[in-house]
Amino acid sequence: MKTRKHLVYDPQYQSDLTVLGSTVQFAPDRGARVLSELSKEFLPNRELPYRKPQMLTFKQMRRTHDETYLDSLKLPATWAEIFGVSTTLPKNGHTTKVLRKLLGDYRLKSGGTLLAARLAMANGLAANLGAGYHHAHRDHGDGYCVINDIALTIHNLRFEYVADKVMVVDLDFHQGNGVSTIFENDPKVFTLDFHALEAWPMKKQKCSLPVAIRKHEGPVYNAKLKAALDQALASFQPDLVIFVHGADAYEHGLKNRGEGFSLTLAQMNERDRMVIDCFADRHIPLALCFAGGYGDRAWEAHHQAVRHLLLRAGAI
Ligand SMILES: [Zn+2]
Repeated sequence: MKTRKHLVYDPQYQSDLTVLGSTVQFAPDRGARVLSELSKEFLPNRELPYRKPQMLTFKQMRRTHDETYLDSLKLPATWAEIFGVSTTLPKNGHTTKVLRKLLGDYRLKSGGTLLAARLAMANGLAANLGAGYHHAHRDHGDGYCVINDIALTIHNLRFEYVADKVMVVDLDFHQGNGVSTIFENDPKVFTLDFHALEAWPMKKQKCSLPVAIRKHEGPVYNAKLKAALDQALASFQPDLVIFVHGADAYEHGLKNRGEGFSLTLAQMNERDRMVIDCFADRHIPLALCFAGGYGDRAWEAHHQAVRHLLLRAGAI
């Protein structure tokens, strides 16, 4: 099995947000579930081999985020705002430990996207079984996103001269406002963003190619995506693509069924194959990260996308 060249994960990809008083859990077993289902199918009785990432260092994080913002992550109030919780943790030694651990989780999973991008540059296709924090801005977190792994990956790869021109294909149900804002004036980053017109964030940020979909437009979603990919590639040739997957476009991807686009698993399959094949056919490296997925069955959409990516890479 050659999956070590294409798959990034760590059993520590778990963030217990209840310690902050948040009631939102990101279906925290998504990465574990995807890995276990793929292992069951392709390597029974064993786990598919994968690479473990390293936590991003503060030096690496400062390539995207302001120092004052990173410093503010020591304060409970900063976390309360990002996660929309009304009561903040008391300022004491225990809280310091809890917040350091939580930030460590985000640094690890964000390191996963950076590693997946490196693997994609070397081997064509790769997936990080987590992350996708597209709402985090340079100077503040937002929408459960503390640091922006997508921007961090782009800035760090650029710093190392590994990749210069990057296309972000963001198919999460919610607009990637953080990524859009960070790269608004950067001609070397192209942001193609499909998102729900009527959903949070209500104020959409400017991006290279925004496609706002109304909730009833599920049936035309894939046709619009095909046209958008053609349009994007006609004007921009990337060294690397970061595919922000977004299982929350799937009918079981949000907490309550009927809130979103309600794309079926078959439609999600068509969608994700279209993206992966579009770039694989052109030999453009692509790294996938998870992003949104809240319902109990959100993992199903991630699973079939990663399965296709690994098959297409010839890894399974
Ligand atoms: Zn989302």
